[in-house]
This record gives sequence, structure tokens and C-alpha cells, in this order.
Amino acid sequence: MRLCGDRTLGRLVKWLRILGIPCELVSYRHPDEIPAESLLLTRNRRLLSEKTLLVPYDRVEDQLRFVFEKLPELRRLEAPFRLCIRCNEPLEEVSREEVFGLVPDFVYETKERFRRCPSCGRVYWRGTHPSRMLSKLKQLGLLRAGIEVDG
Ligand SMILES: [Zn+2]
Repeated sequence: MRLCGDRTLGRLVKWLRILGIPCELVSYRHPDEIPAESLLLTRNRRLLSEKTLLVPYDRVEDQLRFVFEKLPELRRLEAPFRLCIRCNEPLEEVSREEVFGLVPDFVYETKERFRRCPSCGRVYWRGTHPSRMLSKLKQLGLLRAGIEVDG
């Protein structure tokens, strides 16, 4: 199944990516445009179909909880620091030397592991993600146990 979401749920799409769950950002006007094998997350009632999951909440925490309740299998994919938040692409491990000059000096000095998006070239390290939000999700039970949020 290909998971996608539209702009009515832009923050949710971003947060799924932060959690390591691939989610494409799409824009459909009619349910017929949704490809087979897809599941569209949306708030737009006009897109209601068997390929749609209508998300009836405003806050991203509630939206995530709802999606995890409806699609518990997604939780197995949770692995923060795996996807590019911008491109939805899996990140590649790169050495510290390779990111010299590409990250702030204090990050280069203090972080050991780096990953890079093969599509846009953005470099990630632990701490790139807003760890306060990850901590909050953990408190709410929305982050699988055993996943570290800092480092
Ligand atoms: Zn990227």
C-alpha cells in the first residue's frame, strides 16, 4: 500500500516522515484520481472513497493517534531519522568527513553519525528533528517503545 496525504494534512504528512513512515504529498480533486493500492489521508470530504481515510481532527497529535488506531501496522515502520522530511526519500548513511563544511561547526564537532538525502542533498543528524515533539509523542504513547529521541 502506498500511503499519501494532501495539503489538508500537511503537518501530519511531515510528522509521519519524521517518524520514518513514508507518506507522499499529493493533490487530488476527485476520488477517481487516487491510484489503486493507495490510501489517501485527507480532511476533504469530497474525496471520500474506499481509498480514503478521512481524518477528523485538527491537532497533529490527535491526527497521528487516529491514523495509528486505524492502521496499527504503520507503527512497525516507526524509525525516526530515516526519511528526508522534504522529499520522503530514504536517507543514506554518510561519513563525518563527507559532511565537513556542510553542517555547522558545532554539529560537526559534537555529532558522530550523519545521513544525507540522495535527492535534495540535505544532511541530517540526531537533533535535526525537533526532539521535544518526539518526547511528547513518546509520552502520548505515539512513539514505539525503545526508540531513542535524542543523541
Ligand atoms: Zn530530500
